Parts: sequence; C-alpha cells; structure tokens
Amino acid sequence: MFKEEMEEGLTLSVATEEAARCLLCFDAPCSQACPAGTDPGRFIRKLRFRNVTGAIRTIKENNPFGWTCGVVCPTAKLCELACSRTAIDRPIQIGKLQRFLMEHGWVMGFSPVRKPESSGKGKVAIIGSGPAGLTCARELTLQGYEVTVFEKKEKAGGNLRYGIPPFRLSEEGLNREIDEIISLGVTVKTNSPIEGKEGLQKLKDEGFKAVFLSPGLWSPVRLGIEGSNLSGVLSATDFLGSMRTGKASDMENLIKNKVVAVIGGGSVAMDAAQWAKKIGAKDVYVLYRRSYTEMPAEEKEKIQALND
Ligand code: SF4
Repeated sequence: MFKEEMEEGLTLSVATEEAARCLLCFDAPCSQACPAGTDPGRFIRKLRFRNVTGAIRTIKENNPFGWTCGVVCPTAKLCELACSRTAIDRPIQIGKLQRFLMEHGWVMGFSPVRKPESSGKGKVAIIGSGPAGLTCARELTLQGYEVTVFEKKEKAGGNLRYGIPPFRLSEEGLNREIDEIISLGVTVKTNSPIEGKEGLQKLKDEGFKAVFLSPGLWSPVRLGIEGSNLSGVLSATDFLGSMRTGKASDMENLIKNKVVAVIGGGSVAMDAAQWAKKIGAKDVYVLYRRSYTEMPAEEKEKIQALND
C-alpha cells in the first residue's frame, strides 16, 4: 500500500558518489548529532572506501531501526545540520545513504547481526512493541536473555505502524526490520494486553525476572478550547491510528468531499493533511500560528503536502 509513493531511494552509484563527498571529519559532528547513536561518520567512511557490508553492519549494530530512521528521522535538523560539508556546498545526504545501505543489504541477503548462541540468562517481558520495546528486546536477546514482547494491538511496531502513514514509511520496510529482530529469537505476542497489577503479577508467576515498560504515548494532547470535543474534531493520534485499523472506512466517510482543517505545522500535521487529501478531502488547510518558514515540519514534507 502506497509503497510506490515513498520517495525514491538512491542507487549504488549515486550513493558511492555521495559518500565520496564526505570529508572524513576526525571529530564527526554528524555522529555527535545523532540521538540514536547510529554513527553516520563511521558508516559513511566505510561506504566511501567501498566497505559496503561493514557500513551496513555499523548501522544495524547501533540501530535495529536503521532503515526506518533513514527514512523518517528529521536528518535536516540533526546529523545533516551538523555536517561539516555544509561549509563548502551542501550537507551529505546522510538519511538517504542510511536508507540505501539498509535496502542494499536486503537485496544482497546480508544479515549483519547474528543470532546469539545461548539464551540462558532468564526470561524478560517487554510491554509494548514500539521502537523502544523492540530495541530493548533485541539488545537483551543479544545479551542472552529470553525475551517476550507483549503487544495489545494486532500488529507490532507501535507508533511506527499506527502513527506514521505508509506513504511516508512503507509497511514492507517496517515489517522487514521487525522480522529481523524476531529472527534473533525474540517472541512477539500481539493482541496480548498486560493490564494493571494483576497483569504484572501474572508475568511474575510465569517466571519473568524483569519487565520493561514501553507502552507508548497514545493519549492525544487536546487543544482545550471550546469546541475541541465536537464530533468531527479529531486528534492526529485518532486519525492516523484509525487509518491503520479497521476504522479506515469510517474516516473516509467522514472526510470524503469535505473541507479539512489541520491545526499545527509539524511533521505529524503534514502526514494528517496529506492523508486526508489522499482519501478524498475536497480541500485541506493547514493552520499554523507562525509563518510558513517557521513551521517545524521538514521542507520536503511541506512540499509533498503542497503537491498533494
Ligand atoms: S560531518 Fe559530514 S563530512 Fe564530516 S564525517 Fe560526517 S557526513 Fe562526513
């Protein structure tokens, strides 16, 4: 679904050419600016010298969601903003290189992270299968724990699946990264809510030695102004989440041929605006309290929304 609408990735020749622009900075400001610790300075250096598998390994060892971050991470505000090459012409396209390397690894059938040999350190339960829960699951599994992830929704992925539209982040790519984690020995139980003290006690009774809580932030922030509870007024969480569940047709019926106002100017607002248009809204207006240039969404997201 929508896969063809995702922005085109780089080819091998374009990616190596782009990596050749890297200045190989000793202090790698790009790596220092990466909150996920993916270490772009290191993987770009490897790609620059044609060590493609080494580059893929660097990303995946540091970040189980290397592809996802390459696609949706706001690189223009992080690693690319810090990139030294900007002083000469323009920053290295770090996000695109990261995405390319992950996809190239899939095409080659290369598995950079190996399944651990033992899992004898005890059972750990993880509640919630979003990026935090699944990352924790992978790290503990690699350290030899027997990990089970409990997810109350039908599918794993948390906000990556239920909060980001597939035209921004393809379901196929997300599924691949989750499958990679599962292939290391992580058990994921979907449709399995763990609720209250009783739920935690049950886990303890079943022999889990520790529990990692990563239930996600699903409660929307409401505007708190008159009318914000009227029917037809939705939070982004409600709208985007409904589009990924059995309520998509309800949303289409609500929005089709209507004029839609999206309040806010960030990435999520752009996602909501674009999706509303894609499912048949007559017109979509984005209402933001400051100027267009001050909108926090990335430039490419604003342009994509305008194009839709
Ligand atoms: S800051 Fe830019 S030029 Fe320097 S190592 Fe990182 S990607 Fe290369």
